[in-house]
Amino acid sequence: MANSKYGYVKNFELPDPVLPDTFMLFRLDGHSFHRFTDVHGFEKPNDVRALELMDHAARSVMEEYPDIVLAFGESDEYSFLLKRSTSLYNRRESKIVTTLTSLFTSCYVLYWPKYFPDKPLQYPPSFDGRIVPYPAERHIRDYFAWRQADTHINNLYNTTFWALVQQGGQTTTEAHATLRGTFSKDKHEILYSRFKINYNQLDARYRKGSILVREEEPEVPEAQSEARSEGQVRAPEGPTTETMTVSTDATPSSVVLTEPAQPKEK
Ligand code: ATP
Ligand code: ATP
Ligand code: MG
Ligand code: MG
Ligand code: MG
Ligand code: MG
Repeated sequence: MANSKYGYVKNFELPDPVLPDTFMLFRLDGHSFHRFTDVHGFEKPNDVRALELMDHAARSVMEEYPDIVLAFGESDEYSFLLKRSTSLYNRRESKIVTTLTSLFTSCYVLYWPKYFPDKPLQYPPSFDGRIVPYPAERHIRDYFAWRQADTHINNLYNTTFWALVQQGGQTTTEAHATLRGTFSKDKHEILYSRFKINYNQLDARYRKGSILVREEEPEVPEAQSEARSEGQVRAPEGPTTETMTVSTDATPSSVVLTEPAQPKEK
């Protein structure tokens, strides 16, 4: 194959493996979504259709890649946790990043009409992607806590900002000025006293983001379950079924990181 006189150029391609025995955290983020949301008239502060579309694309990625055990989404970004032992594409970083990012992007485009039936895409959206390897479970917990804290901080700001604009009649410049130097409790106070909005009662999806968890349940083959009903108890073996649950109310600290039993991939 490579034995032409040109084949040597292949040697310029350097291997880029992700460190073995580390958790790969893959995050993607919409490119220039400030503009994208403007052009497509997203509802502010939160367009729920767009968040559901992000969840749908993320779920499709998880269905395609069984080594992703957990995902967290907010705004125009999604984070995916791959199990520590994954040998996906021999852990080649650029192969994983580009393949997952493009799959997510094409799902976003493919399912767009389901969530925005009256709003055709004006131009093709794109996402950036990266992998960060983390050595310890503590880092993973802190990672998801970090993203969820970000969700909270941004959403509190955006909710207050858009209340001042949409209901308070301020210009965007005035609203930014009103919020400059305010603390969290001040924003809660503005929302409640001026607009009768109890922040804590807003949809958890907005305040906390979306979490997708892969759960595996051992499936008891029929022959075994019959045997079991006759009192011959055996540990279940064989195939497992997978379910994915979406939650908007779980906290990342409740995340279980034990690796699910899975058939070995070739
Ligand atoms: P970059 O390319 O650097 O990521 P960006 O414009 O995408 O630039 P972000 O920090 O990623 O910047 O911000 C995403 C933008 O998209 C924010 O302005 C956010 O409010 C908006 N956005 C994302 N999702 C939604 C949504 N569901 N509803 C309303 N606005 C959204
Ligand atoms: P990988 O994910 O490793 O890239 P691959 O199956 O995509 O695996 P490639 O080496 O990229 O493998 O080969 C691309 C395959 O797609 C080849 O079999 C090639 O013949 C086929 N292919 C690509 N474009 C066309 C086309 N326009 N018409 C017919 N076949 C095509
Ligand atoms: Mg960014
Ligand atoms: Mg972005
Ligand atoms: Mg973003
Ligand atoms: Mg190919």
